[in-house]
Amino acid sequence: MTTDWKAQEARYYMHLVNRQPVVIERGEGVRVWDVEGKEYLDFTAGWAVVNLGHSHPVVTAAIEYQAARLIQTSNQFYTVPQLELAEALIESCGLDKVFFCNSGAEANEGAVKLAKKYGRLHRDGAQEIITMLNSFHGRTLAMAAATGQPAYQERWKPLTPGFVNVPYDDLEAVKQATTTATAAVMVEPVQGEGGVNVPTEGYLKGLREWCDANGLLLIFDEIQTGMGRLGTLFGHQSFDVEPDVMTLAKALGNGVPIGAFLCKDSCDVLEPGDHGSTFGGNALATAAANATVRYMIENDVPGHAKRVGAYMRSALEAFMAAHQPAVADVRGMGLLLALQFDDTIAAKVVAASNEEGLLLNPVRPDAIRFMPPLIVSEAEVDEAMAKLDRGLARALASGDA
Ligand SMILES: *Cc1c(COP(=O)(O)O)cnc(C)c1O
Repeated sequence: MTTDWKAQEARYYMHLVNRQPVVIERGEGVRVWDVEGKEYLDFTAGWAVVNLGHSHPVVTAAIEYQAARLIQTSNQFYTVPQLELAEALIESCGLDKVFFCNSGAEANEGAVKLAKKYGRLHRDGAQEIITMLNSFHGRTLAMAAATGQPAYQERWKPLTPGFVNVPYDDLEAVKQATTTATAAVMVEPVQGEGGVNVPTEGYLKGLREWCDANGLLLIFDEIQTGMGRLGTLFGHQSFDVEPDVMTLAKALGNGVPIGAFLCKDSCDVLEPGDHGSTFGGNALATAAANATVRYMIENDVPGHAKRVGAYMRSALEAFMAAHQPAVADVRGMGLLLALQFDDTIAAKVVAASNEEGLLLNPVRPDAIRFMPPLIVSEAEVDEAMAKLDRGLARALASGDA
């Protein structure tokens, strides 16, 4: 390798993230290789995106086929992949209609527009959305207001009005924040970026009942929990609670950018002129997503994720028992898992694990997140645990956190 990619980045690219020192060139299944040919187990999966693994042959074939036929028209015309994808999604959940866009933030923006229109038509003009502290809903300006992270919000004030942030996993707080101005409640079934937080039994059901009793829409942001991650195709199916509106993105196209928001017929209020997207639902992205969704369903990938997720959870619990007191907790669901340390050593553990050939995410200063491709095998989990063991030992041996 002759090019110094780190120097190239410093010279040409905006410095918005402190990258891990790995230049990834190629991926296959659960593994990626850097430009020097070093192999890694990828337990970040492109940020919970490549749920079928890197370069999945079925998705690659769909992309190749569609790229050679038609990539983009516009939503002025019908295209077959878009409608096939719509059918695949709607026929596998309790929602009735879908609209495609290009990212998670954009899906949430669409869902919020829908809720505002619903409030205008059916709740006396109510325009407010209750969202949760420690949530993550995306990087647009409206989503900065929806995302309940006061430190991040500070730098974008004045914030888009119309969002009220209350503590997560606190039904009483939602009840108290509800007024005649409230149109909807938006929540992640399990908080992802917030540190992998699973709500207590009854919270989501309680939200459902409260929304029903008060005529509010319940919006689930399933951008991270959807597409099999929690062990069911959609996360809410693991909790047996149905939303009125659901948003998807991340793993929907197994890496090809696509987002979606879905709603029940009872709140299907958007009409021509209300919303749109140039690229949204384009033939290439929907062909990739259609292949992804159908493969996932036909091969029960969520069921596999549930089984391997349980296996990995036991492995993490054994790891915790073997590493007292450094490892303080294991949490998560399906293949969205986290390890809590008793100190702010996550970045060091991740750096040392990278060197051992395992890619991880320090989701908090004192916690790491595991979000491998859902096709990961038990043997690959064992391999990752061995690398993590060496990574933790090195991080602890290196002294101050
Ligand atoms: C990643 C994520 C988003 C934002 O998605 P982008 O595609 O980055 O805009 C929103 N909500 C949740 C729960 C996410 O995990």
